[in-house]
Amino acid sequence: MPKKNTVKKVPMRSCVGCQEKKEKKQLIRVIRTPDDRIELDPTGRSNGRGAYICPKKECLQKAMKRHALQRSLEREIPDDIYISLSAQVEMLEALPESPVPAGQAAADRSGTGTAPGVADGRAAPVISPETEVV
Ligand SMILES: [Zn+2]
Repeated sequence: MPKKNTVKKVPMRSCVGCQEKKEKKQLIRVIRTPDDRIELDPTGRSNGRGAYICPKKECLQKAMKRHALQRSLEREIPDDIYISLSAQVEMLEALPESPVPAGQAAADRSGTGTAPGVADGRAAPVISPETEVV
């Protein structure tokens, strides 16, 4: 099979859960810092030994079962790392492909019985302040 030579080199890393190689930026990075702490590295640029995992529940579960992060980083992984990881995974999985207008999302939730999309009169603009998920 001929190998296509692309100009751009995308850094690839393997997920510790499914072992698949993915673009580094698609994965969550967990690092062992030089002072021996385990941290999540959202920037992907921190110093330290890194392990990578897909932002997927299955991968996280696989990694936990096999102690893959622990093995990869050669350190115990504190519980709160798993907690933050699963929080992050859930947040990323909950993200819609495209932003859904607030009114439509609300209609979806209460839309039992009424035909979806035909909500006349209740299309008041919802001005929501930016809700940051920490
Ligand atoms: Zn994976």
